[in-house]
Amino acid sequence: MQYEVVIGLEIHSQLLTDTKIFCGCSTEFGSEPNTQTCPVCIGMPGVLPVMNRKAVEYVVRTGLSTNCSISSYSRFARKNYFYPDLPKGYQISQFELPLCEQGSVDIDIDGSTRKIGLTRIHLEEDAGKNIHQDSGSESLVDLNRAGVPLMEIVTEPDIRTPREAAEFMKKLRIIVRDIGVCDGNMEQGSLRCDANISLRPEGQEELGTKTEIKNMNSFRFVEKALDYEIKRQIKVLGEGGRIVQETRLWNSEKGMTESMRSKEEAHDYRYFPDPDLMPIEFEKSLIETIRESIGELPEARRERYIKEHKLPEQDADFLSINRGSAELFEDTVKLGNDPTTVSNWIRGDFTRLLNEENKSIEESLINSTHLDSMFKLIDKGTISSKIAKIVFEEMFRTGEDAKRIVEEKGLVQMSDEAGIETIVDEIINKNPEAVEKFKAGEAKLMGFFVGQVMKETRGKANPKIVNELLRKKLG
Ligand SMILES: [Zn+2]
Repeated sequence: MQYEVVIGLEIHSQLLTDTKIFCGCSTEFGSEPNTQTCPVCIGMPGVLPVMNRKAVEYVVRTGLSTNCSISSYSRFARKNYFYPDLPKGYQISQFELPLCEQGSVDIDIDGSTRKIGLTRIHLEEDAGKNIHQDSGSESLVDLNRAGVPLMEIVTEPDIRTPREAAEFMKKLRIIVRDIGVCDGNMEQGSLRCDANISLRPEGQEELGTKTEIKNMNSFRFVEKALDYEIKRQIKVLGEGGRIVQETRLWNSEKGMTESMRSKEEAHDYRYFPDPDLMPIEFEKSLIETIRESIGELPEARRERYIKEHKLPEQDADFLSINRGSAELFEDTVKLGNDPTTVSNWIRGDFTRLLNEENKSIEESLINSTHLDSMFKLIDKGTISSKIAKIVFEEMFRTGEDAKRIVEEKGLVQMSDEAGIETIVDEIINKNPEAVEKFKAGEAKLMGFFVGQVMKETRGKANPKIVNELLRKKLG
């Protein structure tokens, strides 16, 4: 029997607000347990939630960036369940009236585009975290995360393969990072994914029974867990069994999904409108203001880089997915520099140094003026592109201007022909064997001679002059 795979995703994305959704507690990651709490977020009786305006705007921002329609009227609901990390006994979420509905995100699979529908995007609060001691004798609860604003993005059951699921998640991560609503840090759980998956005989309209895989926090896990789950379901169905509707967890060590609990239906949660929060009504003008503030999205930027700046696709991909690198690129090009050269430096030395120091572009000291001043020195022949690498590294570490670094460190390129000629002659005299081999046809030895001259001049000889002289002398 041939089966069709049907996958829908629910992505939880922690919003980049400074404070929690209903109180003023900090949302910073990694603090001592229970140091970022107050009566509101630990669910004391008699407290009242106050909505974080920014959290609402961030959800709308995401909705507008994913082709959603924004609800002019939406409401918060209580989702009731008992768990130690949820002291109120209910989570404030949205149910029948979410902030955003009916959107879509395009993903690219081997050159063809697939449109994945979004059912809804809603806003809710996160729960705390249970910490189970290794001894098994006690469990602790950390409520720092309780009340952190979460955005839940729910797709239509449009996804057909594990790879599409991973691609969708990657694309979504690019968008939320770009518009500044989520840092996309999957290791810290800022972006995590639940997947619903079912199989149905090919041609059948009705959906099969689904299982839900919870809390996957890497693209690879999403792909692997879904791969495993497809095989497991095919096996169960092939043996004449039935799929049980349940929640499963991906165990990355064992490489399999494991049953966690039978899946609740919506009515198990006894949703009802939260009486402590006013419904949200949006004026059209506010939605338009938010729309204008979003600006160009990565996909449009990518197209423009290919068309306007004639960048290869790989470069356009790289520069467009990050607003920081995009801005640096565009600002430097605007100062009259060649787009491909600028791109090469950002993708090459700059990214390497950022990775080495585990820094983001925003944290680095390099701006378009730095790059521009270095390029001008290369263009004028003051420094070679090899020396430029040293200059760049120094700029990166100190934030100083290229020209000053060149002056201070005496890195000016050696362009006096007589001086270089003396060194070229020396190198030729020192290496008679290599000269003979070169003359006998070993053309690649040219690189050796250039290298020797560069070594002798500590990289400062003008490579053009060095090459010309060597060619003339070795003829
Ligand atoms: Zn609080």
